[in-house]
This record gives sequence, C-alpha cells and structure tokens, in this order.
Amino acid sequence: MEQKKYAVKKSAIHGNGVFAARPIKKGEFILEYLGEKISKEESNKRGLEQEEAAQKNGGGAVYIFELDDEFDIDGNFEYNDARFINHACQTNCEAENIGGKIVFTATRDIAEGEEILYNYGYALEHFMRHPCKCGKPGCVGYIVAVEDRIKLKKILARMRKKKFASHK
Ligand SMILES: [Zn+2]
Repeated sequence: MEQKKYAVKKSAIHGNGVFAARPIKKGEFILEYLGEKISKEESNKRGLEQEEAAQKNGGGAVYIFELDDEFDIDGNFEYNDARFINHACQTNCEAENIGGKIVFTATRDIAEGEEILYNYGYALEHFMRHPCKCGKPGCVGYIVAVEDRIKLKKILARMRKKKFASHK
C-alpha cells in the first residue's frame, strides 16, 4: 500500500495544519477537499452560520470552498482533512476543480515535514477581518488574493499616513 502523503499536526501558523509525510513532487496530487456539494444559496446560509460560530469560538473556521458558478463544497466534516490546510502568503500548492472535485496539487517540490500551504484568496473588501500570521518573507499581514496585494499595500500605506497625521 502506498504511504499516505500527508499528516495532520499542530501548526505554528494556526491550529492544526497539513504536513507532507514524504517528499511530494511538483505537480503531484496531494489531497482532495471533501465535503457536501451545495447550492450557492445554501452556501451563503452555512457560510454565515460558520462565521458566527467562529467569532464565538475566536477562531477562523469557515469551511466553504467555491466549486464553480453554481455550487460550493461545505467541507465542515471530520473526514475532510483538507479543511486544516492553512493560508500563507507564500504557498506550495494550488486548488483546481478537476471533474467537479477540488484537488490540491503541489506547485513546487515539497520536502517531507513541510507544511502544505495555500492562498485562501479572500476578497479585499473585508481584509481587516482576516489577518495573516504566516510569518513568511513578504507576508502582507492579511489574507487576500495574490492579485490584490498591491492594492492592499496602497490601502495600508494610506491608513498609516492618516494615523501619523492624527498624532501631530
Ligand atoms: Zn502572511
């Protein structure tokens, strides 16, 4: 039997994380985001419920993953190990919709013991609610999509200037 490619362990970034249990080659399948396929309407409802629960528990725990224009995957189930994949500003995997399944594949060679990291790509709009503590070089401080990083930096620079001006 093939050795499992990953293990769920405590992460220095946040809660539990997913770690490579053996070297993984660039382009290799790592794991699938398992869960229940739900409509966008159901997804909005569950997303709000999960966000409320997360705020009460003080953790970031919304497990809805976008599948396509019509459906999402609710991965809030114990059997879904992929729900433990942490966000980082520097990543080593990507998620793709392959035949209606969300699969994570390595974007570079990953060494045994390395944490599997993915960019959650949250919308810029509510960035303040999603601070990033990945500690990677080039961490932008918040969980946003790669293409929004420059915009985010401009917003943060403007905010710093305002703060400075109000202290004068
Ligand atoms: Zn970061």
